[in-house]
Amino acid sequence: MARVYNFSAGPSMLPESVLNRAAAETLDYNGSGQSVMEMSHRSKVYEEIIFGAQSLFREVMGIPANYKVLFLQGGASLQFAAVPLNLLSGSGKADYVVTGQFATKAYQEAQKYGEIKLVASSKAQNFSVIPTLHPADFTPDADYFYICHNNTIFGSKWAELPETGDVPLVADISSSFLSEPLDVSKFGVLFGGAQKNIAPAGLTVAIVREDLLGKARKDTPAVMDWKTTVENDSMYNTPPCWSIYICKLVLEWIQTLGGLDALKLRNDYKAKLLYDYIDGSALFTNPVSPEFRSIMNVTFVAANEELNNAFVKAAAAEGFVNIKGHRSVGGMRASIYNAMPVEGVEALVEFMRAFEAKNS
Ligand SMILES: *Cc1c(COP(=O)(O)O)cnc(C)c1O
Repeated sequence: MARVYNFSAGPSMLPESVLNRAAAETLDYNGSGQSVMEMSHRSKVYEEIIFGAQSLFREVMGIPANYKVLFLQGGASLQFAAVPLNLLSGSGKADYVVTGQFATKAYQEAQKYGEIKLVASSKAQNFSVIPTLHPADFTPDADYFYICHNNTIFGSKWAELPETGDVPLVADISSSFLSEPLDVSKFGVLFGGAQKNIAPAGLTVAIVREDLLGKARKDTPAVMDWKTTVENDSMYNTPPCWSIYICKLVLEWIQTLGGLDALKLRNDYKAKLLYDYIDGSALFTNPVSPEFRSIMNVTFVAANEELNNAFVKAAAAEGFVNIKGHRSVGGMRASIYNAMPVEGVEALVEFMRAFEAKNS
């Protein structure tokens, strides 16, 4: 069967060149006589992979020297608990902005560990905007300030980062990781699951400013204490070896494309193709305020539920798969992460145009 265009929100497409390389190296990685899936994480040959992936991460994202790159497991969801466990040891207070479902989950999880303030929410607008912030509402002595950078389910993204002064800004960047340049120095902590833009599921990447290490609450499990991870080179326990290997190949692929600046141009172009068509369409609409539109997750709905269902079905038959919106939102969502080729988006827009012509 021909490869499909997979618009899933995650796990999602990986670059074909990466898959080919991994396939070629499956039985014998670099003359080791074994696959990366089988090798000891304590071996020399594997150390080159994990340390190589870490230094490529630093290079590609331009991560300042006073930040550590951590390879973790448990998904972004485990970090919803790890963030308060590692940081809520000063005043025991933190500020959260709720902009969608994953921010809601993080906010709820944090409440188990301290005094958590909801400083703003866009729930009343069905998460179609990023709420306006009033700095007077911020907690001056908070241990951290939390946001979700790109809202995967609703298709929105922060246009401008909040100014939190000395309070470290913590962001879940699961669905915007490596999609465009990001000024890491504006953040205390960044984290995200790999399965959207980086690698297969199983790997979570966190970027933590050094001065925020070593503040974990006493009851923090060792595997969740970022300091333990750093002190053990992300190998306190067995890491997700194969996902880290694919992560390294994906970072090399990003470099061959010209890095994050080049990727941003490509991602902006792909998103614009879709939004421009949707905005001019008489059948499809996008509910997100233009200034807050995600370039990774593009949501849209047709005129009614029947047409939504018909669209999803017809699209799948043509090889545009997983385009159904999240069950909590309905409609459609095209997740167009880094590995989605421009041709995939062009073909989707053509298909939408034809569907519109047939159904109007
Ligand atoms: C997918 C996603 C998550 C959940 O990630 P898991 O790795 O499945 O725990 C959290 N936050 C955001 C923004 C996501 O897109």
